[in-house]
Amino acid sequence: MQFTELQEKLVQNLVRYGKKHKITIDEDFALFKLFEEVGELSQAILTDRKKSRPVKHVSKEESKKQVAAELADVLGMVVVIAHLMDIDLEDALDKKWINKEK
Ligand SMILES: [Mg+2]
Repeated sequence: MQFTELQEKLVQNLVRYGKKHKITIDEDFALFKLFEEVGELSQAILTDRKKSRPVKHVSKEESKKQVAAELADVLGMVVVIAHLMDIDLEDALDKKWINKEK
C-alpha cells in the first residue's frame, strides 16, 4: 500500500468516526486526540514494563499488542493532522529523516 492510499484510508476512517459520534474533525480535535493517544501509549509502555499497578499487568504478548495498537493510534493521528494541515508527510519524512537536508 502506498503512503497516500494509507493516508486516505486513515482520514476516511476518522471522518466516519466523527460522523458516527457527531464530532467535528478539525486540527484542534486531531491535536488533542494525538495527546490522548500519546498518553495511552505511555500507559501501555508502563504496563509492558510492569511499572503500573499490578492489577493492570498482562502477559508480555498482550502488552506488546497494546503497545502496537497505541503506536498505530499515535501514527494515525499524526497522519491525519498532516492531511488537515495540507502537509505532504511523505515528503517531510524524506527530507527530515531519510535525505536530511544540510
Ligand atoms: Mg488509543
